[in-house]
Amino acid sequence: MDGPPGGSTPVTPVIKAGWLDKNPPQGSYIYQKRWVRLDTDHLRYFDSNKDAYSKRFISVACISHVAAIGDQKFEVITNNRTFAFRAESDVERKEWMQALQQAMAEQRARARLSSAYLLGVPGSEQPDRAGSLELRGFKNKLYVAVVGDKVQLYKNLEEYHLGIGITFIDMSVGNVKEVDRRSFDLTTPYRIFSFSADSELEKEQWLEAMQGAIAEALSTSEVAERIWAAAPNRFCADCGAPQPDWASINLCVVICKRCAGEHRGLGAGVSKVRSLKMDRKVWTETLIELFLQLGNGAGNRFWAANVPPSEALQPSSSPSTRRCHLEAKYREGKYRRYHPLFGNQEELDKALCAAVTTTDLAETQALLGCGAGINCFSGDPEAPTPLALAEQAGQTLQMEFLRNNRTTEVPRLDSMKPLEKHYSVVLPTVSHSGFLYKTASAGKLLQDRRAREEFSRRWCVLGDGVLSYFENERAVTPNGEIRASEIVCLAVPPPDTHGFEHTFEVYTEGERLYLFGLESTEQAHEWVKCIAKAFVPPLAEDLLARDFERLGRLPYKAGLSLQRAQEGWFSLSGSELRAVFPEGPCEEPLQLRKLQELSIQGDSENQVLVLVERRRTLYIQGERRLDFMGWLGAIQKAAASMGDTLSEQQLGDSDIPVIVYRCVDYITQCGLTSEGIYRKCGQTSKTQRLLESLRQDARSVHLKEGEQHVDDVSSALKRFLRDLPDGLFTRAQRLAWLEASEIEDEEEKVSRYRELLVRLPPVNRATVKALISHLYCVQCFSDTNQMNVHNLAIVFGPTLFQTDGQDYKAGRVVEDLINHYVVVFSVDEEELRKQREEITAIVKMRVAGTASGTQHAGDFICTVYLEEKKAETEQHIKIPASMTAEELTLEILDRRNVGIREKDYWTCFEVNEREEAERPLHFAEKVLPILHGLGTDSHLVVKKHQAMEAMLLYLASRVGDTKHGMMKFREDRSLLGLGLPSGGFHDRYFILNSSCLRLYKEVRSHRPEKEWPVKSLKVYLGVKKKLRPPTCWGFTVVHETEKHEKQQWYLCCDTQMELREWFATFLFVQHDGLVWPSEPSRVSRAVPEVRLGSVSLIPLRGSENEMRRSVAAFTADPLSLLRNV
Ligand SMILES: [Zn+2]
Repeated sequence: MDGPPGGSTPVTPVIKAGWLDKNPPQGSYIYQKRWVRLDTDHLRYFDSNKDAYSKRFISVACISHVAAIGDQKFEVITNNRTFAFRAESDVERKEWMQALQQAMAEQRARARLSSAYLLGVPGSEQPDRAGSLELRGFKNKLYVAVVGDKVQLYKNLEEYHLGIGITFIDMSVGNVKEVDRRSFDLTTPYRIFSFSADSELEKEQWLEAMQGAIAEALSTSEVAERIWAAAPNRFCADCGAPQPDWASINLCVVICKRCAGEHRGLGAGVSKVRSLKMDRKVWTETLIELFLQLGNGAGNRFWAANVPPSEALQPSSSPSTRRCHLEAKYREGKYRRYHPLFGNQEELDKALCAAVTTTDLAETQALLGCGAGINCFSGDPEAPTPLALAEQAGQTLQMEFLRNNRTTEVPRLDSMKPLEKHYSVVLPTVSHSGFLYKTASAGKLLQDRRAREEFSRRWCVLGDGVLSYFENERAVTPNGEIRASEIVCLAVPPPDTHGFEHTFEVYTEGERLYLFGLESTEQAHEWVKCIAKAFVPPLAEDLLARDFERLGRLPYKAGLSLQRAQEGWFSLSGSELRAVFPEGPCEEPLQLRKLQELSIQGDSENQVLVLVERRRTLYIQGERRLDFMGWLGAIQKAAASMGDTLSEQQLGDSDIPVIVYRCVDYITQCGLTSEGIYRKCGQTSKTQRLLESLRQDARSVHLKEGEQHVDDVSSALKRFLRDLPDGLFTRAQRLAWLEASEIEDEEEKVSRYRELLVRLPPVNRATVKALISHLYCVQCFSDTNQMNVHNLAIVFGPTLFQTDGQDYKAGRVVEDLINHYVVVFSVDEEELRKQREEITAIVKMRVAGTASGTQHAGDFICTVYLEEKKAETEQHIKIPASMTAEELTLEILDRRNVGIREKDYWTCFEVNEREEAERPLHFAEKVLPILHGLGTDSHLVVKKHQAMEAMLLYLASRVGDTKHGMMKFREDRSLLGLGLPSGGFHDRYFILNSSCLRLYKEVRSHRPEKEWPVKSLKVYLGVKKKLRPPTCWGFTVVHETEKHEKQQWYLCCDTQMELREWFATFLFVQHDGLVWPSEPSRVSRAVPEVRLGSVSLIPLRGSENEMRRSVAAFTADPLSLLRNV
């Protein structure tokens, strides 16, 4: 029988399809010929067998009865409606009725077993979004539901509840496009659905929901289909149900949804359950490969070697049978194949150490499953653990398997029900009940206000470790339930965030977010307390002693054990983050506003939040996306400044506000020799803008030379100090300071200052010291900057004391403090010496930069590699602002005495290790701005451009400067913040002309789907392997928007020549036809060369922390680049 047109769409297998006559709805006797199709979930009819979208669909779950009526006719009866069909023969009719009855029976069997079907209502899978929408071609508004990877269309809400709809759209072939303020198109290869929402906001929400469905559809097919490529993985490892879309990543088996539920009940110490559909980020290339090699085949040869037929599971087994079987199988290891060394620990360990260095994964699995110690000592101090051995042997799959099993408990027959082992079962019993208002669960963070109407009143019962919600207090079967052991986070938004005064959010392991609301403060408080108690283990109950805005568990790494992530419990209140780790509570909470660093590392799929405090570094891992994103937002917010006073600012080292530190640091690096520094005013608008962004989040502001003028920064600092509500010296003590300046006896005066200093609040005291220390440095260079102590005092007196400048007392205090800096602040000699050395080094560089006589904005010392990144090829080179890529290249070659032969196209490349891509710099490009933009995982390397000759030949031979053709395209939609998993590569048609690059859905499309100005694109050769590029001839295109957001696309060509042609055309267009210099400009270098040996004096980018971070525990995947383009 025919499938849907297009064929490639993954669809549920068709049980039966064929032509039938259908009676028209109301009374008429004229039958209409319809193409009817039945699959497991739906009976659908179409105008013809060519149609992709049905006229009607009926959920099989809603069919109550199928009956024969008259000749060759039969009725499909639902609660409210009856559909009559006529077959061509009695045989045909009989077949249809049997097929329908069979489908109904199977549906019911499933419904009985699955809690999702408890209500017997179809589509009881919660929609991600549902509501009314206008659809062009329909007179009335339709009721539209986005469920999983489908968009379902119903005539109205009533039919939605009845399970009778018009059609549904599989979003694996869907695409959504904005049309205007309220309208958007859902396009598929077969049809375009033009929707209009009631408001712009609603349109946005629909777009988001549908994009989510696309992402889900694409990721579903991607991971699951790859894993199903191994035949045994196509059936649940435990019960044999087809198309299992869950997996236990430590046991390395693929399982069905129902078995997955029971696996979870075993606890993460036995089975770590992940979805093939939703947990896309978990599915790295390595893990997928591991599942292909081990998977259900090997898994069952070990775990299910001895299953007595009487204890085997069926797809239809009951939950309790399932639970018993799985307990026996994985917790007790009852059916496993015993390893010959079983019982002999020493031999087991030895065998494990040997196995992990080979490709024999099944042996490793058997040994671990029989008790070999995953952390046993190998006897080799160089590689003390099996993991280290595997790493040494380059066995990445072994490493992956070991890592996933590092916390797996060894199965024990006698462990029967070790309730105390896993916190999920020792959770305190808490019961509570009452009405709560609840919205449909969401798969993403709630960005906008949920109106009161979006909540439904539900009777909620918390008991036996389960939170169940019911239609009303009399209902027997719950609408749904959340197991306390599955709750990973509980968050309390500020009052009035949504339509209810009080709300709280519950995040689950399955990446769902449930929002509950209440009017009453006490009741809300009570619910939050009870739910918290229900999911937090006794170990972490200290966290419950205080109010919190967010509470939950997260994988983290900290302290000395950076090797492995563990699960810790965290609570956030105000700007304090408390933590309880398995080894015990953290001695003191992290003060988020005092963090030295708060950053996100890793790529969008493996994000790590790094928090650095003075002595501690904490890495929080984004293993689950949803709650991690929630924490991320909350922590970032809590780490921001709270108000205008000094102590409310983000604080850095030694209690100095980050805002002050940033400015002082920048002036020290770039402004010490700038004439009139602090006296000259910056541009008002720039100063204002800078100060605003510093006030918002000083920690994330990185002042860069070339972007900010020193005078703008100095003005911003002055403005900040002047505007402090209480002043640096505080309102209360200001007068005492001014009076002190009038004491005539110098010694007495200094000791009075010391006295007053002690009385200042700690943050003010630290800031005064830092500032005066800085001014002390500034005046050391008064020869060049003309700012001696007196001049500085004139500027800073009124600023710090917030006076009008008429009275010189304020200036005198500043003057005294600078002059007596060492005594007043008890600066010890060592401190002073260090400070002097630092500024001498900085100034040396400055002087070097001014050798030619002109005042330079300051040069950076940069590390450039020759041919490849190795310590031996390192060159440290000063980059003046005017240096071009060609000059840099020649300088490097010159230093290493590399002669240039004809057709050696030596070029400087910007290599991005994380993206596994590189970009040859155009010869005329300025290097300095590129350096400023380099991430910590990028570097510069000078090497021969292997493809240049071919590209030049191509350019010379062709007419015109445009190119068009098909390429495979993939979008990086996981921008920071809202990480939608991105889809795969798709064929698209491209046109590149002198002004822009346009993307069309296909050759025939009239309008481009996307369009980018070509000069704002950066084109890198190579595509990171993790994205599974379909060919090895790919490039990565980066577009930086005006808001400095980076967008990324990946393009793949079919051949190397294609790639070169595209790339050449890009270069040609971007550089107005000049791709390679006609004659190398060997001489005219702007600045005489200054060699500074191999010591880089100033960290290239940002602070020391950033430098440290670049060598921290998390580094990108091993670099592997596309070499011979
Ligand atoms: Zn199963």
